Amino acid sequence: MNLSTALSDALSTKKEYILALKEMGLYTVADLLQYFPRGYEDLSQFKKINEAKDGEIITTKGFLHGIKLIPTKKRNMKLVKAMFYDDYGSECEVVWFNQPFLKRTLPMDKELILAGKVQYQYGKYVLQSPTVESIKEVQIHAGATVPIYPQHEVITSKWLREKIHPLLYLAKEFEEVLPEEIVKEEGLMGKSEAVKEVHFPTSTDNLKKAQDRLGYEELFLLQLNAVKTKEEWKNSRPEDMSSIKMPMDPEFVKDFFSTLPFIPTGAQKVTIYEILKDMERPFPMMRLLEGDVGSGKTVVAVMALFQAVKYGYQAAIMAPTEVLARQHFFSISKFVEQYEEKVKPTRSLNIQLLIGSLKAKEKKVVQGVIKDGQVDIIIGTHALIQESIAFANLGLIVIDEQHRFGVKQREVIVKQGSPHVLHMTATPIPRTLAMVAYGDQDLSVINEMPKGRLPITTKVVPPEHRDTVYKFIAGKIEQGQQVYVICPLIDESDKLEVKSVKAEYEALQSIFPNFQIGLLHGKLKSDEKESIMRQFKDGNINILVSTSVIEVGVDVPNATIMLIEGAERFGLSQLHQFRGRVGRGKDQSYCFLYTNSDSSLTYERLKAMVDHTDGFKLAEIDLKLRGPGEVYGIKQSGLPDLKMANLLDGILLDRVRKAAEKIVEKSKDLTKYPSLKNAWQALRKRMEAD
Ligand code: ADP
Ligand code: MG
Repeated sequence: MNLSTALSDALSTKKEYILALKEMGLYTVADLLQYFPRGYEDLSQFKKINEAKDGEIITTKGFLHGIKLIPTKKRNMKLVKAMFYDDYGSECEVVWFNQPFLKRTLPMDKELILAGKVQYQYGKYVLQSPTVESIKEVQIHAGATVPIYPQHEVITSKWLREKIHPLLYLAKEFEEVLPEEIVKEEGLMGKSEAVKEVHFPTSTDNLKKAQDRLGYEELFLLQLNAVKTKEEWKNSRPEDMSSIKMPMDPEFVKDFFSTLPFIPTGAQKVTIYEILKDMERPFPMMRLLEGDVGSGKTVVAVMALFQAVKYGYQAAIMAPTEVLARQHFFSISKFVEQYEEKVKPTRSLNIQLLIGSLKAKEKKVVQGVIKDGQVDIIIGTHALIQESIAFANLGLIVIDEQHRFGVKQREVIVKQGSPHVLHMTATPIPRTLAMVAYGDQDLSVINEMPKGRLPITTKVVPPEHRDTVYKFIAGKIEQGQQVYVICPLIDESDKLEVKSVKAEYEALQSIFPNFQIGLLHGKLKSDEKESIMRQFKDGNINILVSTSVIEVGVDVPNATIMLIEGAERFGLSQLHQFRGRVGRGKDQSYCFLYTNSDSSLTYERLKAMVDHTDGFKLAEIDLKLRGPGEVYGIKQSGLPDLKMANLLDGILLDRVRKAAEKIVEKSKDLTKYPSLKNAWQALRKRMEAD
C-alpha cells in the first residue's frame, strides 16, 4: 500500500462509501490524507458528569450498565438506553436513537470513553447519542482533541477519523513539495509531520505549526502559479514587440481631461498613469482595474482606448452582456464626440458595436471594417473574441466585469497580435486576497469616489415594518421612480430559486395591483432577459423582481429603491453590489434590507451595510466575518477553495509572493524542484478543469 493506492483497495468498506468519497473528489490514499479537518473539538479533558452544565459537550470515562432496547410509539423508532457510571462517582442515563445494534455491540464490562451532549432534565442527567470508544493507547474520537471534517451526507467525521487514522503511517511518504531553502528560511514544519499533526494533533502548538505549514504551501503554489502565468503571458508575445510601445504624452492626457465634463479624481489620475506606463513597454500589459460601482472606471478605460488609437491601433472593449455592451457604446460614443469637438483629431474616430443580436448582414459589415482596419474602437460582447473575428491591428482590449480569463481565451487574444489587456471589475476584493486570486495581473485600484454623490440611505427592516416600507415605495413609484426587489437564493437548485422569485412576484402583484411588475431570473433565455431589462430601462416596468442575476452593472438612473429580501443570506460585498444599482440619478436613493433573522451576527453584518458605503471596507469585513471563500467575486476568480490558508494575512502573502518569485528566478522551468513542479502542474490542471 502507498499514497497512490486507490481508496477502493485501501479501505474495507461498502461501495456506497467509495462512491461518496469520489463525490468528494477523494480517489487515492493521498487524497484522503489531504482531506483536512475544518475544526477540532477538545475532548481531551475528562469530566465528572454532575459537574456538566445543561447542553455542554463533555468527555467522560466509566462503565455502561443495564443496556436495553426500547420500542417507541412512533414506528421505525427504536431507543437504546443504558446507565453510565463515570470513574468519578457520578452517573447518568444514556440514550441512542435508531441504533438498535448498539445493544449487541457495546461492551458492559469494559471501561469506555463517552463524549456527547449532556442534558439536564427533571433533576437528572442524560447523555444523548454520545460517541463511544474503548480505552486504547491512542484515542481518536474522544479523550483527545478530535478532528471535525467538512460534512458529507454519507461520510461522517467519525467515519473519516476511523479510516484516516490507520493510514496516517503513510504520511511519511509525502514528498516535500516546498523547496528546502524555503522550509528552512520560514522555519516550517515538514510536510509529513504536518499532515499527521493536522489530523490528530499532539499539542496545540504543533497543530498551529501544521496549519501554518499547510496554509503556506497552499498559498505558495497559488502564487507560484501566478508568477508562472505572468511569465508565460510575457513570453507568449512574438519576438519583436517594440511596435506595441506607446509612449505616454502628458499633453495628450491633458487634452483628453479638458474634454471631460468633470475633473478626474486623484485615484482616476493615478490609475490612468499606471496603465499608460504599462502601455509604454514592449510587452503586453496584463492589468486589473478594481473600482467600486460608480467610481468612474469608464473614463480610465477610455483614456487607454484613445492612447492605443493615437498610435494607430484598434482598441476593443468587451462586456459580459449585450445590455452592458450597448451601455458602453452609448457612453463611450459621448466621450468620443466631446473629444472630437474640442481636440479635433485629423480624422474622425470610427466606433462600432458588435453583439450577437445584430442582423447577419450588419455583423458582416462590422466584421469587415474590423478586418480592414477602418474601425478604431470596437465595443461588444464575447462575439469579439470568436475565432472568426480578425482584427487588422488590435493594440488594446479592455474586458469589463469578465470572469477570469482562461488559458483558451488568452490564446485567442495572443493570436490577435498580443495586445495590451486591461481587466475591469467593480468587485472590491481586498488587496491581499486579490494578490492570490488575480496574482498573475498587476493591480490598479480606484479607491476614491467622485465628489458630490448623494449617499444612499440604507435601512434594516424587521418584519413588523414591512407595510410602512411598502407604503413609502408606492409613494415613490407614483412620483415616477422605479424599484428593484431582489430575492435570495433559497437553495442551490435553480428550480427552487425560480419558485421563490415567482412567489415574490405574485405577492407583490397583490400588494401593488396598480403597478407594472417585471420578473427576471437565471432560467430565462437571454433575449427574454434583455427584453425585460429594456422595458425596465424605458420605464414601462415599475418594479423589477429579480434573483441575483441582476448584479452585473446595469444602469437605470431612474431606479431609486433597492429592496432586498432575506438580506442575511447574502455576503456584504454582494449586498453592496445590489445597492450600487441605485443612487445613479439626481434623486435620493434608498436600500431596504429585509430580514426575519434576529441573530446577532446577522445584525452585525447588516449594520455594517448601514454604516459603510465603501465597498472595499465591506469586503474586508466580509473577509473577517466569513472567510475568503465567501468574499464576493472570489468564486468567479477561478481560485480553488482554500483549505488551510483560510486566515489570510497580508504580510505573510507578501512574503510568499517574494519567495515564489525567487524560486522562479533560480529555476525558470522549475527543473531544480521536481516535486514542486509536479504539485504546481497538478494545481494548474485543477484550476483549468473548473
Ligand atoms: P463605473 O466605475 O461603475 O463603471 P462609471 O465609469 O460608469 O462608473 O461612472 C459613473 C458615473 O460617474 C458616470 O456618469 C461618469 O460620467 C461619472 N464620473 C466619472 N468620474 C467622475 C468624476 N471624477 N467626477 C464626477 N463624475 C464622474
Ligand atoms: Mg462600469
